[in-house]
Amino acid sequence: MKLQELDARTLLARAGLPVPAWSVASDPGEVRAQAEAFLADGADGVVVKAQVLVGGRGKAGGVKLARTADDAAEVAGAILGMDIKGITVRRVLVTPASAIVRELYLAAVLDRTSRRILLMGSAQGGVDIEELAASDPSAITTIAAHPHLGLQDHRARRMAFALGLSEHLKEAVVICKGLVSVVYANDADLVEVNPLAIVREPAPDGPAERLALLDAKITIDDSALGRHPDLEAMRDLDEEDPVDVEARAAGLSFIRLDGDIGCMVNGAGLAMTTMDLVKRAGGRPANFLDIGGGARHDKVAEALRLILADRSVKAVLVNIFGGIARGDEVARGLVEARAHQDRDVPMIVRIVGTNAELAADILREAGSGIETATSLDDAVARAVALAKAA
Ligand code: GDP
Ligand code: MN
Repeated sequence: MKLQELDARTLLARAGLPVPAWSVASDPGEVRAQAEAFLADGADGVVVKAQVLVGGRGKAGGVKLARTADDAAEVAGAILGMDIKGITVRRVLVTPASAIVRELYLAAVLDRTSRRILLMGSAQGGVDIEELAASDPSAITTIAAHPHLGLQDHRARRMAFALGLSEHLKEAVVICKGLVSVVYANDADLVEVNPLAIVREPAPDGPAERLALLDAKITIDDSALGRHPDLEAMRDLDEEDPVDVEARAAGLSFIRLDGDIGCMVNGAGLAMTTMDLVKRAGGRPANFLDIGGGARHDKVAEALRLILADRSVKAVLVNIFGGIARGDEVARGLVEARAHQDRDVPMIVRIVGTNAELAADILREAGSGIETATSLDDAVARAVALAKAA
């Protein structure tokens, strides 16, 4: 799950890291008032930033500097309602403008291969890091955190020197260690700050420079959300695929893929096997779907509705092993969903185990459109053939 910048900032600020003050608004009037407050507080401008879960907001015109409160309201008027990569901007973040001396890149990421949290940094911040990784990988420094001890001080110092931050060593070490600890504390798989900036600020004895986190991107491991109800509450439903939202609400594990054979299976292992068999038979699964154990007919109907909502699905393969799940419940759900279906997609159903005969009766009575198969190989072969013929 991706967090909006405003929520990512909350987690970083809570960890004691130097994130400039910010506020959030959804109309230009609010932005004007918030900008007035920051300007009265000594800021010499504000930055207005679109809150959308896509990268490159700056390039797309979603990040704008304003010198006066009226300016801020005006740029907010332009940003709110703007379409950035298909997402409509509903909220903006307002923050005092920093005087940037230098922009850097710093991120802590989960690396599944080495099973470590890696800290990645570059003196070339503000840029597209994927681009940099491709064009000049030597410009990125990578340091692994210790699996039990976290990021040790000497490693954090090594990163600070690599980034040319010897004059900000103490602050840099706190930030490097902080990003890694935010990963652990929240079960995040990415905590990215781009840019981390050296900013200049007025001080009693002349301008002083310090580090500040000017942007924040955090993604949380979905499987860990059960342990973080406070983070679950940060989920932005407006920006999620509606299919994902519906599947989660129905308690279904559903992942959309790019094939044309919709698959409905109970149990994750059986679902994977079914997908493998479809592939082996020359077909392409349109989704992974585990309806779970003991699914009732309404859940089955909802699952079929989700499968058919994908217009590229040309055939549906149902593979149910009735243990806790009862075959007749599944069959009833299929017939129910079939009645509300707005297009004619052939369906091959294989149900074995508990109440399989009853299931077969229910499907036979329901009439055309649903074919039954007794062996899994047969079911898969027919589904693949039907999808190809469609
Ligand atoms: P992104 O484009 O979605 O990554 O949005 P960012 O928050 O990273 O902003 C893009 C760019 O705007 C940054 O790389 C900076 O160059 C600039 N920017 C952001 N905040 C400030 C600020 O407080 N002061 C100044 N001068 N520039 C800023
Ligand atoms: Mn950025």
